[in-house]
Amino acid sequence: MNDVQLLRYSRHILLDEIGIEGQDRLVAATALVVGAGGLGSPAALYLASAGIGRILLADGDTVDLTNLQRQILHRNDRVGMPKAESGRLALGELNPEVDVIPLTERLEGDGLRAAVAGATVVLDCCDNFATRHAVNRSCFESGVPLVSGAAIRFDGQLAVFDPRADDSPCYHCLFPEGQDVEEVRCAVMGVFAPLTGIVGTMQAAEALKLAGGFGTPMTGRLLLLDARTMSVNEIRVPRDPGCPVCGHRPAVRP
Ligand SMILES: [Zn+2]
Repeated sequence: MNDVQLLRYSRHILLDEIGIEGQDRLVAATALVVGAGGLGSPAALYLASAGIGRILLADGDTVDLTNLQRQILHRNDRVGMPKAESGRLALGELNPEVDVIPLTERLEGDGLRAAVAGATVVLDCCDNFATRHAVNRSCFESGVPLVSGAAIRFDGQLAVFDPRADDSPCYHCLFPEGQDVEEVRCAVMGVFAPLTGIVGTMQAAEALKLAGGFGTPMTGRLLLLDARTMSVNEIRVPRDPGCPVCGHRPAVRP
């Protein structure tokens, strides 16, 4: 780190759990943020302010007026701009030390696999099951930890899936693909604006812990937040030994 970085990140470096070594790991890390919407906005802002060295920000949509109620990366004068580009502008203003790479196509197939394989940590901030399952598969193929978040109406969820941990479940263990889970999206159901901020910020916290090698990630636990009463519940998520995604996974990177 240079002198400016040492000053910028001094309040992290002061923490015994992080220190110079932990901050060095953050500066050397790459985070893939899938979705630059309600969850991806606060997540990416905190990753950038906290000094993650490189952020791949993926979103195939453009900024819409209805997004601005909660998607705090975006601004009124950027309606119509690709969200990944709008996000790059916001993150660049916040911290020019961070290398932000906007991915303006919907991330799938080889593009998704390549982005995941090059990441230290992946944040699933998207709004549909197809992408969630594709991201989960790629993370378990490449051995990259996944921080998954969801927010709809007043209900938030947070979980960490880590293919490097033998006892970690994956997203598919929790929500098996093909089961008729009702797809609920903010576009039709509505969402309480600060709930996306709370969950996205928690995703950033877990991602920073994983990338910086400090604290204990909440691997294998599902946190459920009800913003109506601001109550938090937590359940253990067991690994499904018959899971087609993670059930027979080989040893992956150390
Ligand atoms: Zn699984």
